[in-house]
Amino acid sequence: MASVPSDGTPSATLFEEVVGQPAAVTQLMAAARRPVHAYLLHGPPGSGKRAAARGLAAALLCPDGGCGRCNTCRRALAGTHPDLVMVERSGASLDVDEARSIVTRAQRRPLEAARQVLMVSDVHLAAKAAPALLKTVEEPPPATVFVLLADELVPALATIASRCVKVPFGPVSRQDVVAWLVDRGVDPEHADSVAEASGGRLDRARLLVGDPGFVARQQQWRSVSARLDGTGAVAAEVASELLSSVDEALAPLRDQHAQELAALAEQADLVGAKGIPGRKQVEDAHRREERRWRTDDLRFGLAALAESYRDRLIATAGAEGGASGHGAGTEARRAVHQVEAVREASLALERNANEALLMDALMIELSGMGD
Ligand SMILES: [Zn+2]
Repeated sequence: MASVPSDGTPSATLFEEVVGQPAAVTQLMAAARRPVHAYLLHGPPGSGKRAAARGLAAALLCPDGGCGRCNTCRRALAGTHPDLVMVERSGASLDVDEARSIVTRAQRRPLEAARQVLMVSDVHLAAKAAPALLKTVEEPPPATVFVLLADELVPALATIASRCVKVPFGPVSRQDVVAWLVDRGVDPEHADSVAEASGGRLDRARLLVGDPGFVARQQQWRSVSARLDGTGAVAAEVASELLSSVDEALAPLRDQHAQELAALAEQADLVGAKGIPGRKQVEDAHRREERRWRTDDLRFGLAALAESYRDRLIATAGAEGGASGHGAGTEARRAVHQVEAVREASLALERNANEALLMDALMIELSGMGD
């Protein structure tokens, strides 16, 4: 087809859903010309690994090397091509039975295309299943190509990883998240706050942009400096309000988890299973994700707070230039101290400090009661 350059490079349109990962896309486009037996796409959640894997699959299945327009390309990109086998774990981890069925599937012949692509998600959660997969991933039948996806390169994955071509993905940059949101009709200013709070994850940006409480929560953090009046009572009140706003922030994620559980229950029903297999592990994984989401949210709240104190610092520096003298110098020193206190709190959070104690101490510090 006309859109495929004569050197056999696949069309760039196959990777248009992959945001802000030029190095990974270049690597995959080159890989599609001379495919090897296994690829490992690794990087944080929401960095576009799945979309990239579907693009690679289209390039490998398309009779024209990835024209981006034919029926094969379209079905591969949509994940509906019969020779693109997508394996998702059914419980909290990829278990040995699932690994065995992947091995069996790898031996089958492709149905339509010259090869088949086995895309396996969350292999970082395949610690127990990894040995069962190793031999097949190392040396699959000639018509099978593995595309493994992992959020991180955990030690249990080291042997499998060494048998694959590794394609690293990084967090999506703030500018790229903004551009992606603006393309989807999001107001640029709102896109900027969402991008900041997304931490380089498009999945998080997608949830936050549709979260009606997001703007109010950001506002709440930014208004802290105006509310603190130097009394312990108000400091405690603000700390507790901020912590409950972080609880509210979890609502969209909890909805998503409830939907996931419902879908698993439906699948279990279809095969006549009594309840969801490994339900406890699924719920544990959800709790871990909620915990991580909570910490992220608190951290981004603290970033907004630090920014509001930084703005104050700039304002007082301006006032100082206006020769108001001694008072402004004290104000500026205080603002520097406040920005530093927020930064320290954010670092303590990463060290798993107790959130409630941390927020109480920070609000007291910001109130100037320690001065
Ligand atoms: Zn095609």
